[in-house]
Order: sequence, then structure tokens, then C-alpha cells
Amino acid sequence: MSAKLPQYDYDIIIIGGGPAGYSAGIYAARAGLKTLLVEGASTVSQITITDLIENYPGISEGINGFDLMQLFKKQALKFDLEIMAKDVVAVKKNDSSPIIWDVTIEETTLKTLSLIVATGAHWRNLGAPGETEFAGKGVSYCATCDGPFYRERNVIVVGGGDTAIQEALFLTHFAKKVTVIHRRDRLRAAGILQKRAFAEKKIEFVWNATLTEVSGGDFVNGVKIADVHSGKISEIEAEGVFIFVGRLPHTEIFRDLLALDPTGFIKTDENLKTSAAGIFAAGDCRVKLFRQVITAAGDGANAIHSAELYIEDLKGETY
Ligand code: NAP
Repeated sequence: MSAKLPQYDYDIIIIGGGPAGYSAGIYAARAGLKTLLVEGASTVSQITITDLIENYPGISEGINGFDLMQLFKKQALKFDLEIMAKDVVAVKKNDSSPIIWDVTIEETTLKTLSLIVATGAHWRNLGAPGETEFAGKGVSYCATCDGPFYRERNVIVVGGGDTAIQEALFLTHFAKKVTVIHRRDRLRAAGILQKRAFAEKKIEFVWNATLTEVSGGDFVNGVKIADVHSGKISEIEAEGVFIFVGRLPHTEIFRDLLALDPTGFIKTDENLKTSAAGIFAAGDCRVKLFRQVITAAGDGANAIHSAELYIEDLKGETY
């Protein structure tokens, strides 16, 4: 550390214990940067509740999300990454130095030159009876992950946005029939996706309806829906229920600090820089098109590379 730099505790603090955070941690620790990874104590990464990941390169037999994260962690510990399981409650610029960020982790405040925000996001739930009970047993929030399990089955898609329609189209590669249930009489999705979906014979639409219950035994066997105008309840048989009604990023503590999009995702440039110098964002919490383990892991590596250049520059300037 340069004698002219103000005192600080870490080169990099990574917030988030999912694939983006741990990939960043592996790269940072291996590069010899003084790094702390803070994985939330009160939230779990979405990946840890993913039953089977079979599209992560190199693991051809597939792996449970929790087990995959254990492998990430083991690899990070091999490089002596410092890890803390606590919640970050605040991030703010240090009062006496513009290049230091104060990160408050529960009752402790640590000083860092840079930050990687890898706090993730979670799917918005419908809150319908049976939805949580059948999660992983027919209820899914990821067609890329779970679609191949529904070959020649009937599946339901809930939602009318880009994600719902894109994923409904993807599901037609596997499913016998895809029934899209939407609460209005027209889709929110982009015109091109609508056009494709309307032309796809396997997709049927149920308009002006909301899902009121997911039912089944060991696995899902159907749903109940209600007509939004008449309130009339009807049932649809299906083995899979894919819910795509939006996603919520874990970015509340950055609301007044970083530029966010209208739904709260962190805006970055292609090098994962946010609107604040020294803060980088990686994984599902940032504005991006494709949210997967592999893209989160790639983000983690890229964010560290950018942070490393930033730190070198900072230390160089003060020598
Ligand atoms: P979204 O655009 O917010 O759409 C959510 C959909 O779920 C809407 O159709 C909404 O209905 C419906 N919905 C919300 N709450 C509901 C509830 N409680 N019950 C029933 N339906 C409910 O979310 P998204 O589709 O995940 O897209 C998120 C962002 O990513 C968007 O900006 C989107 O353009 C972008 N994206 C882009 C692409 C692409 O370009 N290929 C692909 C995926 C996502 P209403 O329509 O009635 O509000």
C-alpha cells in the first residue's frame, strides 16, 4: 500500500455470495488483492434453491445449485479469500477521503478502495396457494433451467412480459402444449415476441385470468384460474407451472448512491462500472439481458478485472 494513500482495510469488498460474488472472490484472492466477501446472513442466493443445473459447462452430469456453490466456495478458500456471513446495511463515501468507501456490516464499518455489488435478485412470487409448496416440484421460475424436464408435458406460463413470452417460446421446444395465462387482454411483450408466440401452434392464451392455486400430490398436476371480470374459477391440467411476473433486485441500499433503472437494477457500462467511481456491479442485480449462473460468473471475473485496473490507477496516482 502506498504511504500516501489514506488508511483503508481492503482493496475490494464484494457484497454477495452467489456465482457472481464468488467468481469475483476467486479472481480477486488469486490476484493477491486484499479482499473481503460478505455473503448475506438473511438472504440466500437464488442458485442454492435450484434443484438441477445441467447447462454449466464442465459439469456434464448436472449438479444441484447448493452443491455448485459449495464448489465455488471451496475454490475461493483455496486462495484464502476472507469471507464473512453478515448483512451489509450501508455503503457511503468516507467523510474525509473521496477515494474511500465506508461499508457498514451490521455494527462494524470497514474502509475499502473499491466494491463489487453482486447482491442478486429474486423472482417476484404470485403469492398463490401451492406456489411455494410446489417450488421445485413443478413450479419453476426458469425455463432455461427446468424446461427440458417437461418433454411432451403440458405446462402453464404466467405473465405477459418479454420474459414470459420468450420463455413460453423456449418451452415449445420441449412441451406438448404451453398455456400462457395473462391478467389482461393484451401482452406487454415486444411486438416481435408477440408475433412469434401468436404464430406458434403449441402456445395457447388464456386472457383476463389470474392463477389462484397450484394443486397436485407429490408434483404439480394442475392450476386453478379466475376470470378477472366474472370471478369464475376454472381448472387447467398441467405438470409444470412457470411464473414470470417480474424480478426484484436486491439493491435497496444503493438507491441513493448508484444509477438504477426504473425497476431497481444497477446500470453499468460494458466494463461493469456503475455510476460511482470504484463501485462495480456483477450478476443478476445489474441491468442485463440474460441472467444465468454462467453469465453471473463471467460478470464476477470482468468486474474484478475492472476493479483491479481502477485500484492500480488509484495507487499509481498517489505514488
Ligand atoms: P415485466 O416486463 O415487468 O412483465 C411482468 C409481467 O407479469 C407483465 O405482463 C405483468 O402484467 C405480469 N404481472 C406482474 N405482476 C403480476 C401478478 N401479480 N399477477 C399476474 N401477472 C402479473 O417483467 P419481465 O417480462 O421479466 O421483463 C423485465 C425486463 O426485462 C423488461 O424491461 C423486459 O423488457 C426485459 N426483458 C427483455 C427481453 C428481451 O429483450 N428479449 C427478455 C426478457 C426481459 P401486466 O402486463 O398486466 O403489467
